[in-house]
Amino acid sequence: LMQLSVPLNFIGFIYREIRQGLTDIEQMFDLLDVEAEVTDRPDAQPLAIADGAIRFEDVQFAYDPDRPILKGISFDVPAGKTVAIVGPSGAGKSTISRLLFRFYDVQDGAVTIDGQDVRAVTQESLRAAIGMVPQDTVLFNDTIAYNIRYGRPDATDEEVEKAAEMAQIGPFIEGLPQGFRTMVGERGLKLSGGEKQRVAIARTILKAPPILILDEATSALDTATEQEIQSSLDLVSRGRTTLVIAHRLSTVIGADEIIVLRDGQIAERGRHADLLGIPDGLYAQMWARQSEAIEAEARLRAAREAD
Ligand code: ADP
Ligand code: MG
Repeated sequence: LMQLSVPLNFIGFIYREIRQGLTDIEQMFDLLDVEAEVTDRPDAQPLAIADGAIRFEDVQFAYDPDRPILKGISFDVPAGKTVAIVGPSGAGKSTISRLLFRFYDVQDGAVTIDGQDVRAVTQESLRAAIGMVPQDTVLFNDTIAYNIRYGRPDATDEEVEKAAEMAQIGPFIEGLPQGFRTMVGERGLKLSGGEKQRVAIARTILKAPPILILDEATSALDTATEQEIQSSLDLVSRGRTTLVIAHRLSTVIGADEIIVLRDGQIAERGRHADLLGIPDGLYAQMWARQSEAIEAEARLRAAREAD
């Protein structure tokens, strides 16, 4: 993604011109990643959301036929609940979110939302129902207000400001000389990782989708900023069906179910306490490693402050 960032700004401009208001910029990024574009069936119907229950049924998927990535994955995210997916890098976590968006089609099994196969519904209705806070938000070269309003183009100024406040970025924006009219992005004010993340959260708050995907949403942040953002994320996900994909286990403690993915298979599943109870379990090992890292970070900070 890094080396693509310059042309993408340009593509973003064209994209906005031709597909106004259809999707989020993050989704466009994933779209560009797709070789064989997935298209609507001739008989595709709009997704009828009842309460936003997600089901993966024995899903098998490979980007390249010789190399299976997901080898029979089944899980449910009941309406309004939060399921977390954790596991080593390359395990297939982000692939799961791409299949939910239908950027790719499964090779076997099915992904359904409220009983409707994602292959049978229009992509526009599918993507309108899902909000994503990606790991690395790229902003449009436009105002902060524009970047937030992208979540719902007909939102009023007041609604944009309210969303910013809920994402805990309101005071920061109001402190800028041009406030919400400040230009951001490559050619404007450079925001930090945490600030961009909050813009993405504000955008998602405004969109108010029934389904949320948080893909390693706090991975770029230090522990203190992460904790602040976490409270905004908790707020957004309240009452919404949420799939959290995370490296940092501190963000998934409260999940209704945690799925530990390894090599495209579910290695362990359960709640935090259940998984910690598995002797030599993958989750228990990941937890021990991350606890050590967090303690080391705290010791380092304490030592710096003592200097
Ligand atoms: P995770 O999010 O768990 O780190 P991903 O779902 O992104 O893992 O990727 C799973 C595997 O699929 C990785 O080995 C990755 O290299 C591979 N992969 C991801 N995207 C593509 C792609 N567009 N084409 C081919 N292989 C891919
Ligand atoms: Mg990933």
